[in-house]
Amino acid sequence: MAKRDYYEILGVPRGASAEEVKKAYRRKAKELHPDRNKDDPEAEKRFKEVSEAYDVLKDETKKAAYDRFGHAAFEGGMGGGPRPGAGGFRANGDFASAFSDVFDDLFGDIMGARGARARQAAQRGNDLRYNLRITLEEAFAGLQKTITVPAAVTCTTCRGTGSEGGAEPLTCPTCAGLGKVRAQQGFFTVERTCPTCNGLGQTIKNPCRTCHGAGRVEKERQLSVTIPAGVETGTRIRLAGEGEAGLRGGPPGDLYIFIEVREHPIFVRDGADLHCRVPVSMTTAALGGDIEVPTIDGGRARVRIPEGSQSGRQMRLRGKGMPRLRGQDTGDMFIELAVETPVNLSPRQKELLREFERLSEENNPQSAGFFSAVKGFWDSMKG
Ligand SMILES: [Zn+2]
Ligand SMILES: [Zn+2]
Repeated sequence: MAKRDYYEILGVPRGASAEEVKKAYRRKAKELHPDRNKDDPEAEKRFKEVSEAYDVLKDETKKAAYDRFGHAAFEGGMGGGPRPGAGGFRANGDFASAFSDVFDDLFGDIMGARGARARQAAQRGNDLRYNLRITLEEAFAGLQKTITVPAAVTCTTCRGTGSEGGAEPLTCPTCAGLGKVRAQQGFFTVERTCPTCNGLGQTIKNPCRTCHGAGRVEKERQLSVTIPAGVETGTRIRLAGEGEAGLRGGPPGDLYIFIEVREHPIFVRDGADLHCRVPVSMTTAALGGDIEVPTIDGGRARVRIPEGSQSGRQMRLRGKGMPRLRGQDTGDMFIELAVETPVNLSPRQKELLREFERLSEENNPQSAGFFSAVKGFWDSMKG
C-alpha cells in the first residue's frame, strides 16, 4: 500500500511553518488519541500515522530530506535501529528529546522564519542553547568544562552534497535551476515552486544513504568551553559557529551557553558582593574576640568582633567577594553578626547568669531606652 503524504496526513500545505505543523499535529492527536477512541483500530492507525508525520515534519533536517525525496528518504534508514557513529535518523527518531532537558531550540521565532526560507539551497544551521548549572565556587574561579553537544554535522560520506558518492548535484531539468515553474492558466501566468526539486533548483540522482540527501547527520560532539570567572545566573556565552551545521553548504549556527549559578549554603550573592550571616555567642559579642569565617576561595579570614557588638552588626571584608565579569576589581564580603542566646543551661550556668543579672545596671542601653519610651507613651495616654 502506498504511504500517504505527510502534509496531507496533517492537513497542512507544503511550506507550512513549524508553528502551523505543530498546531495541526496537536489538533489531530487530540482528536485521534487512543484514550478517546477505545477499540477503534482505524483511529489507532491514523493516530500512528499522524505521529509519524509529525516526527518528520517537526524536524528541520528530516523535513528537508522528506521535501526532496519523499518517503524514499527514510527507506532503509528507519527501523534499522541506531547505527553507531553513522548518524542517520534513528528508529523512533528522538535524538533531540534525549537532550531536551539541556537543549532547546534557542529562537523559536527565528526558526519559524527560517522554515519559510527552507526552499533556498544553502541554509544556516540552527542555534543551540546549552543550560549549564555551576556552583558559586565555580563562578568565582571560572572553569573549563567539556560538554556534549548533539549537533548536526556535515555528512562525511557525501561531503555535505547529499548525493551518493559525493557526486555534484545536477541542475534541475524541470525548472533549469530556477526553483520555480510558470504555468499558463487562462490569461494568467502562475508561478509556483518547482515540483521536481521543491524549489531547490538542483536534484540529486541518488541520495546519500548516510544522510538521506540532507548533507548532514546528527552526531554528538565534545566541546571544551571556558567559563570565565564572575559569571552570574543569566549570563550567556556565545560560541560562534559551534551550533548545528548548515544545510547544503550553509554556515553553521551558534551555540549559546546559559549559566545558572546554584544557591550556596553559606554565601548569598548580590552582584559582586557576598553576604554571610555568622552566629556569635552572647559572651563573644559582649566581651569581644576573634572569630574565623570562611571565604569563597576556600580559605578563612580572621575577624575581630568589637566588645559590645549587637546582632545585625555588619562588617566588611574588602576584596573578598566575587570577581567582576568584565573588570579587574573584586566585590566585598559582608558579615552580619547574629548573636545567639545560649540554650540548655546547667544549674551552675543559670546561677552565674542570675548573679550577673543582679549586678547589671547600665549594661543594656537599648532596653533602657525602649522602656523609658514605653513609660512616656503610657504617661501620655493617661494625660
Ligand atoms: Zn526544479
Ligand atoms: Zn551524506
